[in-house]
Amino acid sequence: MSDPVTQRPSRIVVDLSAVGDNLRAIRAHVGVPVMGIVKANAYGHGLVPVARHLEACGVDRLGVAFVEEGIALRRAGIRLPILVLGGIFGPQVADYLRHELEITVSSLDKLRQVESVAEALGQRARVHLKIDTGMERIGVHSYSCAGFIEAAAASRWCDIVGVYSHLACADDPGSPMTDRQVERFAEACAHFTRIGAPMPLRHLANSGGVLHAPGTWLDLVRPGIILYGVLPDPASQATLALRPALSLVSRVVYFKVVRAGGTVSYGATWTAATDTRIATIPVGYGDGYPRALSSRGEVLLREHRRPIAGRVCMDQFMVDLGPDGTAYNEDEVVLVGRQDGQAIRVEDIARQAGTIPYEILTGLNERIPRAYVGG
Ligand SMILES: *Cc1c(COP(=O)(O)O)cnc(C)c1O
Repeated sequence: MSDPVTQRPSRIVVDLSAVGDNLRAIRAHVGVPVMGIVKANAYGHGLVPVARHLEACGVDRLGVAFVEEGIALRRAGIRLPILVLGGIFGPQVADYLRHELEITVSSLDKLRQVESVAEALGQRARVHLKIDTGMERIGVHSYSCAGFIEAAAASRWCDIVGVYSHLACADDPGSPMTDRQVERFAEACAHFTRIGAPMPLRHLANSGGVLHAPGTWLDLVRPGIILYGVLPDPASQATLALRPALSLVSRVVYFKVVRAGGTVSYGATWTAATDTRIATIPVGYGDGYPRALSSRGEVLLREHRRPIAGRVCMDQFMVDLGPDGTAYNEDEVVLVGRQDGQAIRVEDIARQAGTIPYEILTGLNERIPRAYVGG
């Protein structure tokens, strides 16, 4: 009963039913299968619990960034097809095969590498060919991929499950880049037809593509952040109904009055104009709560939106309750989520911290316990 972790005043609460609802909303919107992206600890929501719930909700496939993430899913008993999206390192190829993970093949060299390991193990590799249509991250340029596709189609040890590319600007519905990438990708895929090879699964859409660009949906979509109910960018449009899955809550651990003229936190950057009531919250940048929210962020406490006073420390920060605001030790404080009909969204925090919602979510680390509801 007195487990210090479960008694910790701070927690991330993940509403799995929101993830399930978002998956269904995405499916209904696009009408094609969905690869749920669960890299980076499922965008901070917890890799295994989220993946298990997505599997129970009937997601078609999962995608991760690194082979270790795929292995963790296999060890947790996930049986779905899993694509590792990142570039491969030679010494890790055998691990993909042993754990039946699908491999992103992003160059002719890497195709050869996979073939030789597959041959040595006597086990066929399931691969997705990565085409670069403008992101310039990994992949063979669309304008020079003919030989790559021919070599892959002729491979004796690789089964081509998919062919894909990644969108650079789909978060912004107004960007002309997306149409250009769709065109280049179509030209790349045409090589399969030209050589009489079967067309594998063609996939292109991240969350931005799902939201804004029906031309990117093709045979499969790869949404990440919208599965968690968060929009990718301030320019994005909520073209489908999404529900945020993550809340971050804590409790007041200290309360006092700072006299007029007194300063709060490191650097003494915040000064009380009058006698001011201040509450201390036991969360800090050591948990992934951004230091950039110093004197900028807000929390919800007793039906009020209260500003952060002074710098966010590693393990704590202070909140300005004004000259006569009330708070008691152990009062619940909402850092992300809803309280009494008000909300603080990840998107708000990202804007205040001068970053994108992805960085806020994936920054929330293992020091904060996660609790799951709605599963
Ligand atoms: C991360 C990632 C996605 C998902 O991106 P969101 O913007 O979160 O939807 C899709 N495809 C690839 C290749 C990725 O790296």
